[in-house]
Amino acid sequence: MRYLSTRGNATPRQFCDILLEGLAPDGGLYLPERYPHIDAAALARLRAVHAREGYAALAFEILSLYIADIPAADLRAICEKTYTAEVFGTRAIVPLKKLEDGFYLESLSNGPTLAFKDMAMQLLGHLFEYELARRGQELNILGATSGDTGSAAEYAMRGKQGIRVFMLSPHGRMSPFQQAQMFSLQDANIHNIAIEGVFDDCQDIVKAVSKDLAFKARHHIGTVNSINWARLLAQVVYYFAGYFQATKSGDERVSFTVPSGNFGNVCAGHVARQMGLPVEHLVVATNENDVLNEFFRTGVYRVRAAADTLETSSPSMDISKASNFERFVFDLLGRDGAAVRELFGAQLARQGFFDLSGDARFAQAAERFGFRSGRSTHADRLATIRAVHARSGITIDTHTADGVTVAREHRSGAVPMIVLETALPIKFAETITEALGHPPERPAKFDGIEDLPRRVTVLPADAERVKAVIAAQCAN
Ligand SMILES: *Cc1c(COP(=O)(O)O)cnc(C)c1O
Repeated sequence: MRYLSTRGNATPRQFCDILLEGLAPDGGLYLPERYPHIDAAALARLRAVHAREGYAALAFEILSLYIADIPAADLRAICEKTYTAEVFGTRAIVPLKKLEDGFYLESLSNGPTLAFKDMAMQLLGHLFEYELARRGQELNILGATSGDTGSAAEYAMRGKQGIRVFMLSPHGRMSPFQQAQMFSLQDANIHNIAIEGVFDDCQDIVKAVSKDLAFKARHHIGTVNSINWARLLAQVVYYFAGYFQATKSGDERVSFTVPSGNFGNVCAGHVARQMGLPVEHLVVATNENDVLNEFFRTGVYRVRAAADTLETSSPSMDISKASNFERFVFDLLGRDGAAVRELFGAQLARQGFFDLSGDARFAQAAERFGFRSGRSTHADRLATIRAVHARSGITIDTHTADGVTVAREHRSGAVPMIVLETALPIKFAETITEALGHPPERPAKFDGIEDLPRRVTVLPADAERVKAVIAAQCAN
């Protein structure tokens, strides 16, 4: 399997080439040259593998369709090391919880940082360590986080050979739980840098450092952001696992509702559906930052200015643009790289939006690709958290609540609906308390983390100061 860019650069690349890269050189995102097709017999075989050998074996089967440049035995070992009951809490790894008949939650948040990002990031940690050792290289991961991504990356990369993490976060602005999660890590290869500023300042510093090509090359700077294809591929697996748990045979269909920000999670659902997984609808659930809902309703994709990006109680979905969306548009436009380059490279830069409402292919987003969408607000979140708790005794987090709210609007009789749970409620305790009048349950392993010693360096919003910290560590 080879990979190409959504903006048309056709130089074929292998999986391990793009594993350690960010954007393609032409500014596009990488996608496989085609989606391997899973026919009815293959689907039945995957169901049997999942039932008999479990999630790691299913992950190996799906990943090996896309990865030609890691020997099968090595890839299988990486999957088995990643998806263990010890790391993810249960043998099922992603068990379904029933909310009502035909209405399920898929638990994706029992990994080390209690958000679904662990599902992909844990695999990425093992893949990076493997590939860097094979190449005799090292990697310094530089990232910016306002919460979930940073902690997922740090817990995935801690103690890994050949890897250091430098994670920038806005000083004093993450939730106390999220700060404690990150700053209590004592691993020598993890470096927390709290920037005196807001999240955008952190991101600007990452961009400034990445633009210094000489520094970037000398210090082997890389990223783990959500456009990484390996992260997306890891997420494809749990759509299959969810489907197998909700159905008995490949004749049945299911729908998924996915709380969405950067369109990474639901894009993996799109890939699974393109492979032939019998998915009826993929429902995109946004919060008040409804860039994606607007597109699926109107055909207009309009990025928001920083000032128009609202701070909400589902903060991991507070985005101004959806960085993985270009992948879907590439497929929607029949994989026309020149057209994608015109929309994302030219029109967005020039006018901040593009409009496909008059394009006959826009109708295919719903018809051919099964997309639906909806939007949820703070009041919806509170009401849904209360209703789910009252009916089933389950406490859901604020992002998952956006999913449940929107899923209810899109349920249709016979087809089971699976809502992807994207975090555990303890990460967003303040809003849970607002909804229920008491804080959510805290998993035992996080008891007292706020009191642990902290490793964090506070710096002004100055890229040169960050570079100096990186250079000093590399000289060690
Ligand atoms: C990252 C995140 C999301 C959004 O996922 P995307 O892949 O960016 O669409 C939703 N909920 C939580 C809790 C997250 O951490």
